[in-house]
Amino acid sequence: MTKQYDVVVIGSGPAGYVAAIRCAQLGFKTACIEKWLTSDNKTVYGGTCLNVGCIPSKALLDSSHKYVEAQQHLAAHGIKTGDVSIDVTAMIDRKARVVSQLTQGIKGLFAANKVEGLAGTGKVTGNNTVSLTTHDGKQEELLANNIIIAAGSVPIEIPPTPIDQDVIVDSTGALEFQEVPRRLGVIGAGVIGLELGSVWARLGSEVTILEALDDLLPMVDRQIAKDCGRIFDKQGLTIKLGARVTGSKKATLNKKPVVKVQYTDSEGEQEIVFDKLVVAVGRRPLSETVIDNSVGIELDERGFIKVDDHCATNVPGIYAVGDIVRGPMLAHKGMEEGVMVAERLADKKTQVNYDLVPSVIYTHPEVAWVGKNEEQLKSEGTEYNVGTFPFAASGRAQAANDTEGMVKLLADAKTDRILGCHIIGASAADLLQQIVIAMEFSASAEDIGLTMFAHPALSEAIHEAALAANGHAIHIGNRKRR
Ligand code: FAD
Ligand code: AMP
Repeated sequence: MTKQYDVVVIGSGPAGYVAAIRCAQLGFKTACIEKWLTSDNKTVYGGTCLNVGCIPSKALLDSSHKYVEAQQHLAAHGIKTGDVSIDVTAMIDRKARVVSQLTQGIKGLFAANKVEGLAGTGKVTGNNTVSLTTHDGKQEELLANNIIIAAGSVPIEIPPTPIDQDVIVDSTGALEFQEVPRRLGVIGAGVIGLELGSVWARLGSEVTILEALDDLLPMVDRQIAKDCGRIFDKQGLTIKLGARVTGSKKATLNKKPVVKVQYTDSEGEQEIVFDKLVVAVGRRPLSETVIDNSVGIELDERGFIKVDDHCATNVPGIYAVGDIVRGPMLAHKGMEEGVMVAERLADKKTQVNYDLVPSVIYTHPEVAWVGKNEEQLKSEGTEYNVGTFPFAASGRAQAANDTEGMVKLLADAKTDRILGCHIIGASAADLLQQIVIAMEFSASAEDIGLTMFAHPALSEAIHEAALAANGHAIHIGNRKRR
């Protein structure tokens, strides 16, 4: 008998599982199809984010940060540790436990909210039909009043460096190294390349990042990006800008596998040898296998499913959310889209504010930003005030001996409305959220200046940057006094 649902969600990453849970909360009979299997063939929910993305990368960033702390920074606090070493297998095992706990958590949430998890591969076959192919090859047709496609994205592969998940790996492989590679190459100085490069550099790899573009982090405020470059350099990450990878050749050196990578830069053809190479050149939407062409869902030229501001496709009753549609490939953006679609199906008027998607690079210090940067404001001709505050002047940062970075706040010169915030510093992601909330409420820099902040706390740097935007910071000299 054909199974019938109010909503069928394809994919259980952050966009899909959140959409499914919210649909079920709103009273819809909901199923969520997931094809991901663990190495022991068990269905696992959570998608890229939980299994091979946000969570495992942060687990390794946290472990490797603690290692650096123990090795280099505890002595300043008078703590003697003796020799510090890293057990890579134990670190990777801990990461696997964190992932497993969280993916089990999704299973629990599905059960609590009465979302029916279906194991197998889903494909949209009509306006109201999805075919489910189970792992043992059986096919079933599901009927759905509404369909939400949340099939996510996969790493982009480039012809010069075919992935073998041994010597040449993608981001997933770079989360599984069983020992610290002596020389690690990374292609792409994007968020993922910088985070994974940092993990292994902290543990002792000689890391070289090859980036085709001439500018580091072009999407980041230039002043902050410049700081990033200086800090990463100090941390031993070699970032070669203007270096486009054109080829690679696997070889054996001293009985060990290596990869010789060819790239071109301003001086011509170059070659460099690595023990492991991570290809982190971006991700692409996984749209080709999830839709039957006969349904007529429109894709753009890069394979993203075309949707309107409310994530509706051109086919009535079919929606798409997360990495498979336009916009930044970020878990929180997909989650909010999932909630929006579910609530709109329940006739609510929910929207996603695409102007306020926070971005974070989880290096140390972290880099986080929201809204417009200086370059964007200049190019659109908006007059603005800038307030900056360095963590070196923060009592809490000094107490923690972690004073690198700054907060930069941009406010409209005429209305004082906050237009953007850019932070490089410890806990930047958590600090930034205060400004995301403020901006969601259309706050002015003065509103933040008039708010009482607990002392001593890193967030006082936000308070001071807001005061500085209006020329009257207390704990630092002001560029303009007002
Ligand atoms: P996905 O998480 O990709 O989930 C899609 C799911 O759909 C998968 O489980 C897949 O198996 C399933 N699926 C696909 N096709 C089918 C089908 N036909 N049938 C059934 N199931 C199917 N983002 C952040 O916001 N913060 C971070 O710190 C961060 N760090 C990252 C670190 C790394 C190393 C990587 C790779 C990514 C990171 N991201 C981060 C990005 C984040 O993981 C993605 O933006 C997010 O997972 C997208 O969610 P999604 O639900 O759209 O898709
Ligand atoms: P992101 O899209 O943020 O994950 O970043 C991927 C980065 O990889 C971008 O900055 C690209 O410029 C870079 N990139 C893509 N292809 C190459 C290549 N062949 N050689 C070097 N860098 C590349």
